[in-house]
Amino acid sequence: MLKQNVSLKDYSNYKIGGNAAYFLEVFSRKDLIDGLKEWYEVSLDFPKNKTQIFVLGGGTNVLFSDDGFYGLVIKNSIKGIEVKNNIVIVGAGESISSFLDFCIKHSLSGFEWAGGLPGTVGGAIRGNAGAFNGEIKDTLVEVESLNLKTLKTIKRSNKNCELLYRNSVFKNNAKDEIIISAVFNLSSGNRKDIENKIRERVEHRNLKHPLEYPNIGSIFKNVPIEKFLDIQMKSLSQYIKNDPFSVIPAAKLIFLAGLKGERVGDVMVSPKHTNFIVNMGNGKASEVKRLIGFIKERVKEEFNVELEEEIMYVNGGDLNG
Ligand SMILES: Cc1cc2nc3c(=O)[nH]c(=O)nc-3n(C[C@H](O)[C@H](O)[C@H](O)COP(=O)(O)OP(=O)(O)OC[C@H]3O[C@@H](n4cnc5c(N)ncnc54)[C@H](O)[C@@H]3O)c2cc1C
Repeated sequence: MLKQNVSLKDYSNYKIGGNAAYFLEVFSRKDLIDGLKEWYEVSLDFPKNKTQIFVLGGGTNVLFSDDGFYGLVIKNSIKGIEVKNNIVIVGAGESISSFLDFCIKHSLSGFEWAGGLPGTVGGAIRGNAGAFNGEIKDTLVEVESLNLKTLKTIKRSNKNCELLYRNSVFKNNAKDEIIISAVFNLSSGNRKDIENKIRERVEHRNLKHPLEYPNIGSIFKNVPIEKFLDIQMKSLSQYIKNDPFSVIPAAKLIFLAGLKGERVGDVMVSPKHTNFIVNMGNGKASEVKRLIGFIKERVKEEFNVELEEEIMYVNGGDLNG
């Protein structure tokens, strides 16, 4: 059922954002289709900028504007996990952490890289999430999605999902679709080994990331080494990381630009990890945006490269990313 004026702050890992004019949480395909039909009736006479739909997973990679969202936000809570002969079917609203618990319980290997990755399976597929030399692309077989306009479902193979570095068809030609479920091909493994690998990754993240404050992960993409001049690389080559191609971590550039601990209002460049901007309490989207602008300016002055955001802005009725 559609709700009105729902605070997006409560659905954002950042604890930042205004209200959604309309909000629909779906637990099944039926909820989704019934809710969308209701929405299309309600919004029939709305101006265009108030008819947009935004699909929300775990809210771990999005910055909601302080003004909120004028259209409909659909919170995907379609869950459920089944396995047969190491082929796993997962609801896209399932959290990565419960998927990993399932993998441990059933001794399924292939997804350990995702230990500690926040968010939902749907959000991870859309951005082809990756860490520790693994990514969604490695084990994904098929994705089922629903077109929000035609209400038709579509199945795509791994290849047709066009999974590239932090990218997929769902960011491009299939923007109007909501991912409902996915099929992964895992392999049988040793339960203790799987559990240990996942735990190592969780511990690594706990140590390196400022998880004690609300955040939305890395703000900027790392910068490919080709963007730098040879003369710059003489001093920067010591920081090269393979991600999966050779990059200079954005965190390092921000640190070298002297921005560790830089603050605007209640948001700050984390001293623990300088590619994170943390919410110290009552942070606002406007403050995050100002700090992002300032970081880009300073890094450009210092290194003559443009930092590019990895996070997604959700502004009023105007979507990007
Ligand atoms: C502490 C921290 C660490 C992180 N580490 C990593 C990391 O190591 N690697 C990495 O890749 N990312 C990382 N991230 C970023 C983020 O967690 C991932 O991108 C995650 O996969 C996003 O999932 P989500 O469900 O929270 O998506 P959301 O933030 O809710 O949404 C992100 C985008 O996905 C879309 N979306 C969500 N669900 C669906 C769906 N069912 N169908 C269609 N579109 C959908 C949304 O519309 C939005 O555009 C990190 C974030 C945090 C906070």
